[in-house]
Amino acid sequence: MKLHLLGWDIICSPKSEGGLGFKKAEFNNLAMLARNAWMIIENPNCLLATVLKSRYFPRTDFLNAKCPSNCSWTWKLNTHFDDASVEKIITIPLSHICTPDMRAWELSKNGRFTYKSAYLGLRGLRPSQCSAFWKRIWKIRVPYKIQVFTWKATMNALPARIILNTRMHMLSVDCTRCNDPHESILHALVLRPFASRVWFLSSFCVNTQAFSNKSFIDWMMFWLVDLVSELPDGDQCFFVAILWSIWQSRKNPIFQNVKENDSAVLMS
Ligand SMILES: [Zn+2]
Repeated sequence: MKLHLLGWDIICSPKSEGGLGFKKAEFNNLAMLARNAWMIIENPNCLLATVLKSRYFPRTDFLNAKCPSNCSWTWKLNTHFDDASVEKIITIPLSHICTPDMRAWELSKNGRFTYKSAYLGLRGLRPSQCSAFWKRIWKIRVPYKIQVFTWKATMNALPARIILNTRMHMLSVDCTRCNDPHESILHALVLRPFASRVWFLSSFCVNTQAFSNKSFIDWMMFWLVDLVSELPDGDQCFFVAILWSIWQSRKNPIFQNVKENDSAVLMS
């Protein structure tokens, strides 16, 4: 049985928003259409514009043309602009300085069309406060599978017992190691006695009980992006490698009856 611990919406969010950056086909198509429309508006003499003009709007221009019932996909794009947006465009005050007019794309800083800004705009996204944190996770120089593991841990998407319990019925959610009544990701990777000992013996030399009332994302932000406590790049690699090793050692004993060994975690 394969359990899906994250929704498709999250998977499709950009990496800077905490997702994996997959593209939903629908937004993808619309962003491609926006790219074509923008090209026609900026270069009314290009081949695509000439072909469409002769077929659909021989006596007017792209923005004033009506959409015929049998039109092509490129052409149907203008059905996606709502009246409120049109209203806003009309009320933009005009400059008194005599400079040539140009159209600027609202969703990018320099007014140039980019496919990415169209895609994010269609999804209604703006850079979030956490984006520095999410970007950091994908920049840590560790193997991709460890980056993904770190991302999943932060998204509450590792099969710790209280997470599993949200998807399937569990007789209990207590930790099989220390009988703590709730095995959360913070418990499994940071607070349980074995993990706590590893963190204390590591070069970070931290008493994890200081985080017992915090969330796992607090723990991550403390080491990765906090202005005062963030680790230098090399230590960040080591930090996520320890998280990974603790998770691996959690998995092993369940199936193989191997005793967890803190120095092995730090050596691996
Ligand atoms: Zn425990």
